[in-house]
Amino acid sequence: MNQTGEELDTLVLNKERAGRKKLALGMYFHVPFCSTTCDFCAFYQEKPSKKKIDSYFRGLEMELSRFPPDRSVSTIFIGGGTPGLLQPDDLERLCKLVNTSDLEKDYEWSIELAPSEINPQKLKVLKEQGVNRISMGVQTFSSTFMDALGRKHPVDKIYQAYQWIRDAGFQSVNLDLLFGAPGQTLEDWEKDLAQAVELQPDHLSTYCLTFEEDTAMFLRLSQGKAKIDPEREAEFYEFAWKYLPAHGYDQYEVSNYAKAGFRCRHNLNTWGMHEWIGYGPSACSQYQGRRRKNIANLETWLAGMKPNHQPAYMEEETLSPEEFAHDAILFGLRMNQGISIPTIARQFDLSLGLFSNISQFLDRLVGENLARIKDHGNYQLTGQGRILCDAIACDLPELSY
Ligand code: SF4
Repeated sequence: MNQTGEELDTLVLNKERAGRKKLALGMYFHVPFCSTTCDFCAFYQEKPSKKKIDSYFRGLEMELSRFPPDRSVSTIFIGGGTPGLLQPDDLERLCKLVNTSDLEKDYEWSIELAPSEINPQKLKVLKEQGVNRISMGVQTFSSTFMDALGRKHPVDKIYQAYQWIRDAGFQSVNLDLLFGAPGQTLEDWEKDLAQAVELQPDHLSTYCLTFEEDTAMFLRLSQGKAKIDPEREAEFYEFAWKYLPAHGYDQYEVSNYAKAGFRCRHNLNTWGMHEWIGYGPSACSQYQGRRRKNIANLETWLAGMKPNHQPAYMEEETLSPEEFAHDAILFGLRMNQGISIPTIARQFDLSLGLFSNISQFLDRLVGENLARIKDHGNYQLTGQGRILCDAIACDLPELSY
């Protein structure tokens, strides 16, 4: 049964109060295969081959047996890459590996699928294995902007795939949309939003195109064939903030909207600085007070998983409770409900005095009309504050007396 975001927040809080050991736990699986590279994408991915897929499964089996979750799992997210590139028998194998963990009764289990990789056989396997949420990477309904982004699926495929997803019985569906492609106007963006709403998904994620280094889009930027225009981006954001709530989608984070009861629990856990374990090359974990990122190379990752070998990490750090609290504020400010400093202090067993810097900073934002104080004393960013949330995050001070 789906619960409202508020009910889930309360559930998570109650678990926290019952003791740190009961924090919600997520699992993330990175499937690093894509047949082609989208022009805006900087994620680690490889062209699939039988040998590479075999290596991936061998590594995953070893990683899961070396780093099993220490308690029951509330959310699972299979992302990539393109998990849907796996054939039905490989999807089944992946799901069976995932399912060796102890899942909570009301678990959320999402998988990201690209429209062109979806078919009824794969959906049947996923449904039978217990997946209960599909996230489809639509990006745009316009063939012009599809080309501009280097996406390869024809627009018709989106409608066909969506119908198959519903026919297979999935009751929780997210669509990802991307805005800010070169040449895209507000009218184009409105058309994309209208077509998405017409399908009636349960959740929508809307992301601004970013120009990551080592992508075809970045090359176009450096050649002067594309440009970054923050004012135009702000208009796109603000348009969606008005349009989607007016069409039944409650905004709960800068880029995320959901019908009642369909907020993404995996993301809520992540933004709330709970714990998750990432499996697969380039997957990130936040677990037992540490953050780490697996090496973004299939062979090196596999070698590190073998008995008597050291796992290879690109990044690894231990965080103090103060650092976790700082990040909970940083991500919490992106959420519409805002943040409660006493709640975050309790979550990380910290004294309120440590937050005086942060409170002064937030009061200054209130004075500049970038934040407001809501009932129960929560600080919440205003629309103008949300537009500037990246800059606000950079300026957010550390906790200190
Ligand atoms: S956006 Fe997704 S499908 Fe496209 S290259 Fe990146 S990971 Fe692959």
